[in-house]
Amino acid sequence: MRIDLHIHSKYSSDGVLGVRKIIETALKRGLDGVAICDHNVFKAYEEARSLAPPGFVVIPGVEYGTDMGHVLALFVTGLYDLKKDARGLRRLAELREAATEDGALLVAAHPYRKRESVPDGFFEYMDGIETRNSRDMARAPGNEGKARSAAGERGAFMTGGSDAHIAREIGACRTVVPDGTERTAEGVRAALEARLSAADGEGGKLRYQALGKMRRTRPKTFLKDAARLIDFTAEDLIKKWR
Ligand SMILES: [Zn+2]
Ligand SMILES: [Zn+2]
Repeated sequence: MRIDLHIHSKYSSDGVLGVRKIIETALKRGLDGVAICDHNVFKAYEEARSLAPPGFVVIPGVEYGTDMGHVLALFVTGLYDLKKDARGLRRLAELREAATEDGALLVAAHPYRKRESVPDGFFEYMDGIETRNSRDMARAPGNEGKARSAAGERGAFMTGGSDAHIAREIGACRTVVPDGTERTAEGVRAALEARLSAADGEGGKLRYQALGKMRRTRPKTFLKDAARLIDFTAEDLIKKWR
């Protein structure tokens, strides 16, 4: 079974994807489930669940921006009311407490994105580590091996997710659990906790990250830009849209 455990919908401040589009695209790509983990928002879950056909797993999740990095909270029952610091970040220690009380699992999202190492103690708060994130792998393919070593050392379960902000990214990386896993959120959770998961997939195209950004910031000129993009190289785009 293949599940993309890291997708952003239009409810993320930097997202554009409707929930229906996410479910339809995931089904088209042959995925067995999704977790929509919007940035500090929990709004897509009920809609996703109502749209999902029988046997398609929808896992409730949120991606929190914390003082030690981005963290996916999976199997949540709602958004936690956590204090923000001056930078708008939540304290990871507080997120851990809230997640434990709620029965949710925490996963370190793209732990090495834009940094050589993680803050001391970061992984100690985690149940799992996202070892494959297609957006991060597009920029820094080496981060996958580092994250995998960290998961192995700590006995954390491994996940994969696309971090999709546009439809073309959905499923680029995903979490794989054994085929016999019960096709429910509880079934997937049991497989993760039994350390039966693996991460699968490839780095996405940098072009898609730029497209996502353009679509969000300048929707009216999106089509024109998209057409022009064909002549751009990835390097041009990074320079232009960074
Ligand atoms: Zn993130
Ligand atoms: Zn994300």
